[in-house]
Amino acid sequence: MNNAVRFTLGVDDIPKRWYNIAADSPVPIPPPLNPGTNQPIKPEEMEAIFPRNLIEQEMCQDRYVDIPEEVRDAYIMLNRPSPLVRAVRLEKALKTPAKIFYKREDLSPCGSHKPNTAIAQAYYNMVAGTEHITTETGAGQWGSALALACSVFNMSCKVFMVRVSYDGKPYRRYVMQVYGADVYPSPSPETKYGRTLLEKDPNNPGSLGIAISEAIEMAVTTPNTKYSLGSVLNHVMLHQTVIGQELLTQLEMADVVPDYMIGCVGGGSNFAGFSFPLLGQKIKGKVDTEFIGVEPTSVPSLTEGDYRYDFGDTAGMTPLLKMYTLGHEFIPSPIHAGGLRYHGMAPSVSLFKDLGLVKSVTVDQIDTFSAGIQWALAEGVIPAPETTHAIRVAIDLALEAKRKNEEKIIVFNFSGHGLLDLVGYDKYLSGQMK
Ligand SMILES: *Cc1c(COP(=O)(O)O)cnc(C)c1O
Repeated sequence: MNNAVRFTLGVDDIPKRWYNIAADSPVPIPPPLNPGTNQPIKPEEMEAIFPRNLIEQEMCQDRYVDIPEEVRDAYIMLNRPSPLVRAVRLEKALKTPAKIFYKREDLSPCGSHKPNTAIAQAYYNMVAGTEHITTETGAGQWGSALALACSVFNMSCKVFMVRVSYDGKPYRRYVMQVYGADVYPSPSPETKYGRTLLEKDPNNPGSLGIAISEAIEMAVTTPNTKYSLGSVLNHVMLHQTVIGQELLTQLEMADVVPDYMIGCVGGGSNFAGFSFPLLGQKIKGKVDTEFIGVEPTSVPSLTEGDYRYDFGDTAGMTPLLKMYTLGHEFIPSPIHAGGLRYHGMAPSVSLFKDLGLVKSVTVDQIDTFSAGIQWALAEGVIPAPETTHAIRVAIDLALEAKRKNEEKIIVFNFSGHGLLDLVGYDKYLSGQMK
């Protein structure tokens, strides 16, 4: 093992290809179904909302997909390759013999991993002639990533932001607006669906499901306009593997093989991108690593959901996806880790859970914030509330290694920083958190 604290790669080391785990999956990842016919969706049926090149990627079976030069160039702006860092100060504070490593996805301009796919999706849309991209956002992490990406490739970005967040969490709205996006509080008067809802209740607080429906309606009814999704779909997982591709090189530099690979899971994209390249090696029997997805106790889709076909949105407008789901009408409680409030899980991550290749655990909100503060005191960066879920489990495993006096190698994905989510920390510190 190499005792260095930080493993950095140069700009030339930005991966040249994404890894597509579909090629190595022991059984095929179940395809999306048309809810009308219960038959696999035909590519043409998706062309109203996605450009053809991304639909092809969604169904692609090739092991590797070349990353276009323009996307690699933009990845430089995202601070790629991101460093792999050893949390030596936390190890010391815990007095653990375990070695804790983290991959820093908080260093992008938006502070999370989400621009890795936003840049790629905007690029492919630009190539396909798209002029406007619509999307939904809750607290704004995905909206701000896509707004940045659209500004890079000169397209307009229309974001439907859940109204309670639009009013109550305005900072990421400002970020989107700085990047030139049009941000609408959802439900909005911009769409037929939004107008119907507003007629019934002008104070409708909105939901992610409503915002998706509005974004899809606008994409379908406006010329040269497509829709974009920030997690769950295969092509999103594919783009995020830029994280795990870099990581394979960095693990070699560090001369370690992880005992544990940990990530928080909302729709599954940061966990998938971080872990799929190594999971591919586990499938081939080359490593014996344990892969752990961490979710909130209040949204336990992977841990307690059913594995079945369900809608991706609340209104039931999307194709059916085979996934671990709490049911598309499930309304998650308003926890601070907004990015983890999703009723389902990516079909790929769901399949690997079903096959026993991936495990999942749940953690309570209070315990995640205490881990976040322990982390900030030891390592400096204030983690996103989502990221604290992974940190909680990393700390717990490091403490278990201490009890057993084992030198375990623990690697987790630091999906984002929490500097725009400080209200949660305030609630925790002032004893108001439940
Ligand atoms: C959105 C988000 C997540 C959850 O989304 P996934 O698709 O599961 O990765 C996790 N961490 C941060 C910082 C996020 O912004």
